[in-house]
Amino acid sequence: MDTKQQALFIIFGGTGDLAKRKLYPSLFELYKKGFLRDNFAVIGTARRPWTDEYFQEVVREAVTAEHESEEDVANFAQHFYYQSHNVNDTEHYVTLRKLAQQLDQKYHIGGNRLFYLAMSPRFFGTIAKHLKSQHIVTDNGYNRLIIEKPFGHDLTSAKELNNAIGSYFTEKSVFRIDHYLGKEMIQNIAAVRFGNNLFRSLWNNRYIDNIQITLSEALGVEERAGYYETAGALRDMVQNHILQIVSLLTMNMPASYTESDIRREKLDALKALQVYTPEQVKNNFVRAQYTGTNELKGYRQEEKIADDSRTETFVAGKLFVNNENFAGVPIYIRTGKRLAKKTTRIDIVFKDIPKNIFGSAKLGKNILTIIVEPKGEIYLQMNVKQIGQDFGLQVQKMDLLQVKDNKVQIPEAYEKLILDALRGNATNFTHWEEVAYSWKFVDAIRSTWDQQQDSLAEYASGSMGPKVADDLLVRDGHKWVFTVNGEEN
Ligand code: NAP
Repeated sequence: MDTKQQALFIIFGGTGDLAKRKLYPSLFELYKKGFLRDNFAVIGTARRPWTDEYFQEVVREAVTAEHESEEDVANFAQHFYYQSHNVNDTEHYVTLRKLAQQLDQKYHIGGNRLFYLAMSPRFFGTIAKHLKSQHIVTDNGYNRLIIEKPFGHDLTSAKELNNAIGSYFTEKSVFRIDHYLGKEMIQNIAAVRFGNNLFRSLWNNRYIDNIQITLSEALGVEERAGYYETAGALRDMVQNHILQIVSLLTMNMPASYTESDIRREKLDALKALQVYTPEQVKNNFVRAQYTGTNELKGYRQEEKIADDSRTETFVAGKLFVNNENFAGVPIYIRTGKRLAKKTTRIDIVFKDIPKNIFGSAKLGKNILTIIVEPKGEIYLQMNVKQIGQDFGLQVQKMDLLQVKDNKVQIPEAYEKLILDALRGNATNFTHWEEVAYSWKFVDAIRSTWDQQQDSLAEYASGSMGPKVADDLLVRDGHKWVFTVNGEEN
C-alpha cells in the first residue's frame, strides 16, 4: 500500500472557517502519520492580503494542541504558502500557476494537484474554468477537484453547476465531499451488514419492521443564519447526509467492496426511492421551527432571520426504497436544530417473533442501534432469561462495539476523506448521479411545501421535535426508539 503522497494542494477559501477548523488539522494528522512528508506543499488562496509568514502562523495556531510537538508543527507549517487571489480575476491565476510550478519543483511533486474548493459554490464554475484555461492543471500528474456541499439548491441548479464543472473536469476527477461518508461509524454500516451472516441474512423486508434515522443537533442556527435561511433542514441535511445513509442501509450487497460496485448499488437504492406526489408529501413529511425559551431565542428571533421566515429547522418523514429487499419497510427520518441532544443514530427495528411461546411475558423488540455520534457504539437489543429460579424474560442490550480504550484514536472524517482523495479512491464521495437522484426526491417535497400557505408547526427548544413527527410513527403502530428522555423499545 502506498504511504507517502506527493501532492500540491491549492485551497480556495484558505482563510475561511472550514480550512482552519477542518482542513489544516486533518492535513497535520496526515503529516504526523507520514502520509504527507517531504513531497507536499499547500497554497492557500483568498482575497485578503496575507503574507506567507502570517498564513503559516494561522496554520500553526489551527493545528496546535497541548500535546503536539512544536517541531512537528513548525516543520509542517513551512509547507504552506499564501497567495492573495480573487477567483474572478484571470490575472491572479497567472501568478498562481507560477507559484504552483515553483513549489512543484521545490518539493519534487511530479505534477499531482488537488484543488480544494472551500468556498461558496457560486464560484466553482469560474474556478474550474480558470484552472483549465490558465494551465494550472498539469499534464504530468493527476488533477483532482474536491468540492464542498451544498451541490446546488435543487436539481436544476445542481445540473447547471455540474455542467459548469464538467466542461473542465471529468467525473472521475471530481470528489464531492459528504463528510458523513468519512465517519467511522457510517463506514461501519457496510462492515456490519456484509461482514456478518447474521445480519446479511436478516437485512430485508421479511425481518426488518422499520428503520429510524435521527440526526439531531442541540445548537440553534448560530452563525450560519444567512446560509441556513436559504437552505432549511431538508436541503441542509436530508438531500445529502440522510439520503446517503439511506442508500448505505438499503443497497443490495455489492459484488465487491470497491468503488464501482458500491456506487452502482448505492445508486440503484437511490433510484428506487419513492418520489412523492404532493398528496403523499402532505401525508409523509412534516416540518417545523424551534421556539425560544427564557434564555434562548426562537428561530424567527435569531439574528439575520426574517421574523416571518418559513424556513424549517426540523424535518421528519417516512420514505420508502422500493427495491426487492426493502419495498414496504418504512424508513423514518428526522433532523433538526435545538433538539434535546446532539446525536446521529440509526435504529433497525426487527419484526416481532411470529409466535410468543412464553404466555403472558411480553417480548421486547430486537433492535440494532448504530450510534455515529457523539461516540461510536453498536447495540443489539435482545430478550434473555431473567436470572433466578423462576422463568422470566428481560430485555438486554448487548454492547457490540464500544471503543473503551481511550488511546484508540478515531481519525476525523476529513482526514480520512483527504487521504482517499490523495489515493484517488472515490468510494466515500458522492457521484453526480447520486446527487441528481437525491435532488429529485427532495425537490418533490420542497415544491409541495413552497405551495402550501398553512402555518408552520413549532417545537420547543430542547424537545425532540413537534408532536406531528411522533404521529408519523404512531399511526403506523410504531414509535421512535430514541426519545427525549432516553430510550424505549
Ligand atoms: P467562509 O468562512 O465564509 O470562507 C469563505 C472563503 O472564501 C474565505 O476564505 C474568503 O476569504 C474566500 N472568498 C470569498 N470570496 C472570494 C473571492 N471572490 N475570491 C477568493 N476568495 C474568496 O466559509 P466556510 O465556512 O469556510 O465554508 C466554505 C464552503 O464549505 C462553503 O461552501 C460551505 O457551505 C462549505 N461547508 C463549510 C462547513 C464548515 O464547517 N465551515 C461545513 C460543510 C460545508 P476572503 O474573504 O479573504 O476572500
